[in-house]
Order: sequence, then C-alpha cells, then structure tokens
Amino acid sequence: MAQIDIRQVRKSYGKTQTLHGVDLIFPTGEFVVILGPSGCGKSTLLRMIAGLEDITSGEIAIAGKVVNRLEPRERGCAMVFQNYALYPHMTVAANIGYALKVAGVPKAERQRRIEETAKIVGLSEYLDRKPAALSGGQRQRVAMGRAIIREPEVFLFDEPLSNLDAKLRVTMRSEIRKLHQRLSATSVFVTHDQVEAMTLADRLVVMNKGNVEQVGQPLDIYNRPASTFVASFIGSPAMNLFDGSVDAQTASVMFGNWSVPLPPQAVTGLQGKEVIVGIRPEHCTVSHEGDGISAIVDFVEELGSGRVVHAEVRGQIFAATIGEDFPVRSGDRITLQFPPLHLHFFDKQTGRRIELDAMPSQHANVSAEHTLEHGV
Ligand code: ADP
Repeated sequence: MAQIDIRQVRKSYGKTQTLHGVDLIFPTGEFVVILGPSGCGKSTLLRMIAGLEDITSGEIAIAGKVVNRLEPRERGCAMVFQNYALYPHMTVAANIGYALKVAGVPKAERQRRIEETAKIVGLSEYLDRKPAALSGGQRQRVAMGRAIIREPEVFLFDEPLSNLDAKLRVTMRSEIRKLHQRLSATSVFVTHDQVEAMTLADRLVVMNKGNVEQVGQPLDIYNRPASTFVASFIGSPAMNLFDGSVDAQTASVMFGNWSVPLPPQAVTGLQGKEVIVGIRPEHCTVSHEGDGISAIVDFVEELGSGRVVHAEVRGQIFAATIGEDFPVRSGDRITLQFPPLHLHFFDKQTGRRIELDAMPSQHANVSAEHTLEHGV
C-alpha cells in the first residue's frame, strides 16, 4: 500500500512548460481520478508517476520514497493503457503472465497466479486465445489482468475505457470499481470524461492548462466548484454562467435590466461587486408566466430520462431542466427564475469562487478543506 506525494512538479518540453508546479497527495488505497480537457497535462503527470517521462523539476514520492531517479520497474506501479498494449502473438495466459516470466517466477507458480488472475478478471475460459480473437472489453481485461498479477502497490490507468463502446464502458467502470474494492491498491485514473470521473473517483483532481483547478470528492466539486472552469466543465448540461453587478439596495444582482434576488446573507459580502453568477440547469425554475427573467425558447432537448429547454436571454442561451408535463416549443416565451440559495458566485477577474461565509449554504455538509487553491 502506497501513498503518492507530488511536490511542485513541473514539466517542460523544450521551452514550453506543460505542468506548472503541481502539488497533490494521493492517500494509500484511494481511487483518484485526474480529469481535464485534452492537452491539460493529465497523461504527462501520470507518465511521470510511472517513470515514463522525466520530471523537469519537483519531486514524486511513492510510499515515502522519492522515485525521480528510479526506473519504471523499480517504482511498484502497474499501468493500463488506452490501447491495451497486448502482445498479439501471445495467448491471453502468456500476456497475463509475461511480467512474472521476465521476473523468473517458476512455471508452476506462474500458472497458479495466471489462473487466479484470470478468475478475477473473468477470463478463465479464454486463456488459450490470442488477443485478435477477443472483444474490446476482453482485451481491456487482459490488460488489467497483466497489471493485477504483479500485485502492484499502485495502479495507473491512462484513459483505459476510451476505445470501448458506451455500454461496455459502463460495465467496465463498475468492474474497475469492484476490482479496486477487492485489491485496494492506490489507483490513479486519467480521463477527459466527466461522467467516468464522477462515478469512479474517491477523490477527483480537475486540471486545466497544466494547473490543478480543484481537488475533492466528486459531489463536493459538483456542489462547490472552485472556479468558472470547473463549474462549466463538470455537469451536463453545463452550469449557466452570466455576468452581473450586485445592487445592495435591492438585494439583487442585476443581469442587464433583469434583477435576480440574492440570498439575504450574501448581500454584504458581494456589495457593489461585478461578479459571474452561476446556476445549474436543474436548479432553474421555468414557467409560462409570473415574475422572473423573460426568455425565448431556442430548442428543447429530449433526453428520454428528462427534458432540457435552451432559451435565450440577452443574446445568451440558458439551459433549464423541465418536466415531461411542461408544454413548450421553439419560439415560445417563458420565464426563468433562479432560486437565490442555488446561486454560485465567482470573481469576475480571476474566475475563482467567492465563498460567502454568512450564506446558509444549500450544501452545508461540504467541507471547504477539499477545495485547494490553484496549484496548491
Ligand atoms: P492530456 O493527457 O491532458 O491530453 P498531455 O499530458 O498528453 O495532455 O499533454 C499535455 C501537453 O504537453 C500538450 O500540450 C501536449 O501537446 C504536450 N506534450 C505532450 N507530450 C509531448 C512531447 N513528447 N513533446 C512535446 N510536447 C508534448
């Protein structure tokens, strides 16, 4: 079992810096997911833990030991790649047992452990097949078996489900989660898929442009995004964000001529400020009449499990979840209301969340400890 410590880690390719001083702690046995858009540096970070990329500066320690200068095989990590990286000419058994063969483990012992591992990943029936005769999901399981058999202290997953179809991804997600519960090795899983990240993670790390934006439990991050980037990256449809200026006299935030009421306790904290206001689609209230912001329906998205109306206000589209029984069509005029307790506020200059201590949070059980500042 091994904690991973990442301290002030930077990475440059030539003159271009890709990671800008990342500090993270992954506690022993946790399932950590690193989430971010393509190119944000998540694979680079993972590959630096594995020893497949040099660390330009800073330190990575596994189980208390600095590994900067250790070869990949000396780090106690096993990695599962997106492309599975199986040996096509070898059987499933030979692929799974390859690391043990290289390590000189005697044949009988090797055979026993291959069979044991194949049982864990559900491949007992396929040990004699070659990878070409397996489905995508089965190949992914061989790749996982090959990692598990080494009994690593750390599992590293680099977008391992990206090549699978949607249904299989869901199945493999729950298999990986179950496997983690069974083996409880420290696991680091890189993905750009927010649903995958939310469902798998004990701890979620959101990255943007080589920086850590936020670290926390998935729901904490959903409920209290630390920045507009996180607010709009996590959640589908994304959180609605709009510019507003706070009018303390009317206890509201002005969005053009529209006045959105503030929670009373927030008024002092935000007095006179220019802010970015956020509201999630599921927290918007939609009606055909009454007080609120007048909007014109652009289109209605039928999701099967629900409906989302996209409506225009002042040239900006807002998404709001609506019930099956709410009749609405493109071009209709509707009224949007944003319940004060569900509003999020962000600094207009920095995009960082404004914490309103006095505000009775709708997410009162969420600990602020999980929210780390940029690169801290
Ligand atoms: P992600 O995994 O988040 O998609 P990567 O870690 O693969 O992102 O890449 C981060 C950035 O580093 C990207 O801008 C990418 O172009 C750059 N990069 C990655 N590998 C190399 C390399 N070998 N040489 C130069 N630039 C690289």
